[in-house]
Amino acid sequence: MGEQYADIIVDIAHEKLDKTFQYRVPESLRGRLEPGMCVQIPFGNGNRLIKGYVMELGEKCKFDPARTKEIAGIAGRDTDVTDKMMELAAWMRKNYGGTMIQALKTVLPAKRSVKKLERRFVEALADREELTSLLGESMRKKQPAKARLLAALLEQKTIPYEWITSKLNVSAATVNSLAKAEALRVVSTERFRNPVKCGGEADRRAGDDRKALSRDQQKIVDEVMRDLDRGTPGTYLIHGITGSGKTEVYMELIAGVVARGRQAIVLIPEIALTYQTLLRFYRRFGERVSVLNSALSPGEKYDQCERAKAGEIDVIIGPRSALFTPFPNIGLIVMDEEHEGSYKSESTPKYHARETALKVAELHGAGVVLGSATPSLEAYYRAKKGEYRLFTLKERLTGGVLPTVYTVDLREELKRGNRSIFSEKLQELLADRLERGQQSMLFLNRRGYAGFVSCRACGAVMKCPHCDVSLSEHGNGLLMCHYCGHSEPRPKLCPQCGSKYILGFKAGTQQIEEKLKELFPGVRALRMDGDTTRTKDSYGKILAAFANEEADVLIGTQMIVKGHDFPKVTLVGILAADLSLSAADYRAGERTFQLLTQAVGRAGRGTEPGEAVIQTYQPQHYAVVQAARQDYEDFYQEEILYRELGGYPPASHLLAVQIFAKEESAGDALARRLADIVRGDGAAVLGPAAASIGKINDVYRFVFYVKNDDRKKLIQYKDRLEETLEEAPFAGAQVQFDFDPVNCM
Ligand code: ADP
Ligand code: ZN
Ligand code: ZN
Repeated sequence: MGEQYADIIVDIAHEKLDKTFQYRVPESLRGRLEPGMCVQIPFGNGNRLIKGYVMELGEKCKFDPARTKEIAGIAGRDTDVTDKMMELAAWMRKNYGGTMIQALKTVLPAKRSVKKLERRFVEALADREELTSLLGESMRKKQPAKARLLAALLEQKTIPYEWITSKLNVSAATVNSLAKAEALRVVSTERFRNPVKCGGEADRRAGDDRKALSRDQQKIVDEVMRDLDRGTPGTYLIHGITGSGKTEVYMELIAGVVARGRQAIVLIPEIALTYQTLLRFYRRFGERVSVLNSALSPGEKYDQCERAKAGEIDVIIGPRSALFTPFPNIGLIVMDEEHEGSYKSESTPKYHARETALKVAELHGAGVVLGSATPSLEAYYRAKKGEYRLFTLKERLTGGVLPTVYTVDLREELKRGNRSIFSEKLQELLADRLERGQQSMLFLNRRGYAGFVSCRACGAVMKCPHCDVSLSEHGNGLLMCHYCGHSEPRPKLCPQCGSKYILGFKAGTQQIEEKLKELFPGVRALRMDGDTTRTKDSYGKILAAFANEEADVLIGTQMIVKGHDFPKVTLVGILAADLSLSAADYRAGERTFQLLTQAVGRAGRGTEPGEAVIQTYQPQHYAVVQAARQDYEDFYQEEILYRELGGYPPASHLLAVQIFAKEESAGDALARRLADIVRGDGAAVLGPAAASIGKINDVYRFVFYVKNDDRKKLIQYKDRLEETLEEAPFAGAQVQFDFDPVNCM
């Protein structure tokens, strides 16, 4: 081995990360150093020994080799926050790929001077899948401005309005048309104040409404605290439907941890982080709790981190980035709604908050509590294997029984001549509710609605013969598989039944509202979508109006099934349950089950029993059947079998290698070369193939997948590819890694 050099950083602050010093690695340390390690180095004129951290290692000397100093030795770690952050960053770099600087930037709070006069933002409303399909559509229709905006929203969920006009050169009309299509909304900055501050003295005085825990709740608290006190904290999964008392358990545990002089992090997906939830925490913990969310300015975020470091707060609530709050001694990490896709980062390092929470907990000797009504396959699988301790909370503590569910086969409706978007059963129940003055919700499942192709007569979805995922339509009349690259012409007639009605279900919420009014003249309907939530506070206003019974029916997309409770709702109609089943990735069944279960669970939260109608083309699909029965266990058994047979996570591991290139041929060549390298090492490789959208903003996208039961093996393949790229950089191309991807490219 030749000379080795290390880039060392001495001052760990976000804004100084690019300022490194190069040192020679002495003979005795060769092969022993890794990024993130803490070393002693001679510094300054006096060659005083100080502590530094290795950022990157390389073989090239950037300056005069004769004047480059040598590392003095490996330093022991202190127990301070910086050391833990550095170790965490090093772990992230190792496990998810990318550079040490990218990892540190993820982990450290950015300090920036903040201008306080921000006015308006554009915020993505559609999820990634929808944005991606809208992007594909706008490119096919040759609408470049729209495509630029959508591509930008895929990169960053919230964009200052003035960037859109100045930097992206997109007109207000384009923004409005996307707002109409529910892809985004325009919000003003006031929405984004730290909600805890709004709590106010009056709310605080309203008092701490602590409950005496039920036996099942107490059992969880006792076990977790016992393990913590013994110094053997573990990972716990609480499987319990909404309203079963999970939050009450979290708060009791946090109180216990705080009483022991330690801190707690509570992760909640932003969409589910309601004002009511915050208020509960505020009432219990007062000024010692704070919130982090994407809405805070960088300056405000930085302040929360400083407060955490200084010991001014004990509890932080926020989305996945709250995990990096620099608390000195974390005792507990709670991850509510742990199944949510937003826990996966979409930029390098593409970390998952669940795995990362386990690492943070390890560094602090903390416990991790996961909670969900519909646990992710990952978490349940680990619980079944005994890696996590599983607790189940079965009862709703506020009363209310599970709704009666009717599954309607839309193929039968069509045969009977009912072309309406409402089945006969749904019409009948809607009429009944209007008669009785009770409320209903109509939910349009739009996840993954575009792209795939299905038969309206028989419900058949065109699938890849090799991968058992649905094919996506491309502009050139081809159907393609994004896993293996298989392609075939779009059929004229349905291969199952011969019908010529092959298309997608394209009704929007607005159309549903119109049809509802035709059917029931005089019905009072509210619609929750990008159009109706554009102005400040309109989201809250619609929810409040519905809660005040100013409307009979609330119509909406995913937005209406999460978070909010309406005790007067006794009917939920799910208009097209299986749209999300056809999304071209292995998590489609899981997502559908989760969405349907959540939607069905909206009915009958109060004293009156509820009913739900699931309209579907695939009434026999296990995700639909088990959601209708609200049977997680049976769903899990079927789904895990499919994952095991297909070799998909969590039964196996999947590494997506994503290639971005200016030139199509170069990207293709690089993808093939990299795939061949790991194939040569014996890896099981799928692809490479063009990504579902092969080109965004003139950048071509390719992807291949590596499968292995052993995650470590995949890390080795990733390392091998990173080394290859380091040695022979590929001009004009970029490579990213995504382990166990949540959204497939
Ligand atoms: P989850 O987080 O599972 O949705 P919550 O903790 O929010 O459940 O509890 C649901 C409702 O039940 C809340 O109104 C809460 O105040 C109430 N609750 C929770 N635990 C108890 C208890 N032990 N006794 C009475 N009410 C409770
Ligand atoms: Zn058919
Ligand atoms: Zn395939």
